[in-house]
Amino acid sequence: MARDGHCLRILLEFYFCALDGPIPSPSVKGVFESLEKLGDTVNICMIGAGYVGLVSAACFAEFGWTVTCVDKDVDRIERLNRGRVPIYEPGLDELLERNVRAARIRFSTVVSEAVRDAELVFLAVGTPMRRGDGYADLTYIFEAVDEMAPHLNALTVIATKSTVPVGTSRDIERRLCELRPDLDVVVCSNPEFLREGSAIRDFTHPDRVLIGCEDERGREVMRRLYQPLALRNAPIVFVSPESAELAKYAANAFLAMKVTFINEIADLCEAVGADVQEVATAIGADGRIGSKFLHAGPGYGGSCFPKDVTALIRTAREARAPLSLVEQVEKVNTERKIAMAGRIEAALGGSVREKTIGVLGVTFKPNTDDMREAPSLVIVPMLQAKGARIRAYDPQGALRAQELLPGVEWCESALDVAERADVLVVLTEWNEFRALDLKRMHQVMIGNVLVDLRNIYTEALAKEAGFVYYGVGRTRPPDVSRNHKKRMEIMAKRAVGQVTH
Ligand code: NAD
Repeated sequence: MARDGHCLRILLEFYFCALDGPIPSPSVKGVFESLEKLGDTVNICMIGAGYVGLVSAACFAEFGWTVTCVDKDVDRIERLNRGRVPIYEPGLDELLERNVRAARIRFSTVVSEAVRDAELVFLAVGTPMRRGDGYADLTYIFEAVDEMAPHLNALTVIATKSTVPVGTSRDIERRLCELRPDLDVVVCSNPEFLREGSAIRDFTHPDRVLIGCEDERGREVMRRLYQPLALRNAPIVFVSPESAELAKYAANAFLAMKVTFINEIADLCEAVGADVQEVATAIGADGRIGSKFLHAGPGYGGSCFPKDVTALIRTAREARAPLSLVEQVEKVNTERKIAMAGRIEAALGGSVREKTIGVLGVTFKPNTDDMREAPSLVIVPMLQAKGARIRAYDPQGALRAQELLPGVEWCESALDVAERADVLVVLTEWNEFRALDLKRMHQVMIGNVLVDLRNIYTEALAKEAGFVYYGVGRTRPPDVSRNHKKRMEIMAKRAVGQVTH
């Protein structure tokens, strides 16, 4: 469907105002003029309507392009067609609603028609960790390629948004050449760097858009696609497909290493009496280091870091260029989640048997309902195995978490979690946990211990509310013997009615 340049200009003006306010006009004017000359829309087929596919599709539609989003999950597409968003991502429902109404985005389970009209097909399917060897499982990628091949038309650009190992773009190209020797296809890598929870902002304000493509026709289509971002000075970086594919893994491994580094520094802070947040602020102020991803916690999780770190390790070993540093990051992170369960146990005096543990947050990070590789999936079952009763509350994650964390009692609020709990544990730093009435929480608990694995409180604040507080890298870690004694004293006093709550 062709759209004239005037419409596109209006859309772009609307887009800039809606997302960020207007941008300086002189630099933009020329680009608007060239867009008016350009005139056409870009017809996109997005295969995969998950966290990446759905957000990317909605943002491309917001740019003014025409998008068909295809998923083989019938239920997911039915929900989308009824106006329901199957994932929790702030702002996504309004963005989709607006673009559905404007007929710029539609949803389908049928690859054939969506692909037939598209000049650009994105692959945004999952690439989970392959069972047994930890390599990236490319089953969904090649299933999608096989499915689309018979229906491709004329010159089509195929772009992988999914995170795929080095060489995958060339493998896709080879497969398509075998299946459709008559066809002119260009395969490029366009890895996605958005983060769940701030995905729309990340997509529309990227640090860079990375495109691995050596074919000038493919580059031209991608240039046109990302023109709305180039307008606001987002760097559009063209490299080889191999460099783009590897850069995505290298970026995730580096960030995972940063998180793991500060976690180990946190342990050292506890041992020597320093405060990890003060240390992180001091080192993060150095432009060479940067302040992001320097928050100590229970170890990284999520849909990307764990699987991508493991896959990169496998790729490097296979290429006989092992990444010993990244291998250590993976090991330390796995051990950390286990150590955090031990920390909660120690905070309760050495045993969690028959103790009620109130858990605040189970998703791998706030502002998402994604449970993939969340630290809670290691910590909660370990505590259950040791005889603890778990009551939990998560603002968005309970639905997905229910099947992953059997035996947990799900609560409707943070206060509900605290009810008759021996200890309160902060596992995910949702904003709504930052301003809890700690005194009230303490009043309804049996115990008085707060284990804050995200450092959202200060020891002073927690103490004032009556808690014994354990943060990460800011306080001495729980000492089993000392704590046990203290708890026994409180329980004894309660038994004789000297303590009323
Ligand atoms: P997801 O599991 O949320 O979504 C994948 C979707 O693809 C699912 O809905 C699934 O039904 C669909 N699908 C699978 N095979 C299909 C097929 N043949 N045809 C149509 N649909 C099909 O995954 P995600 O989190 O969106 O991740 C997608 C890719 O993007 C992964 O490679 C991931 O590593 C990468 N990535 C993810 C993030 C993130 O924050 N989630 C960020 C950057 C990159």
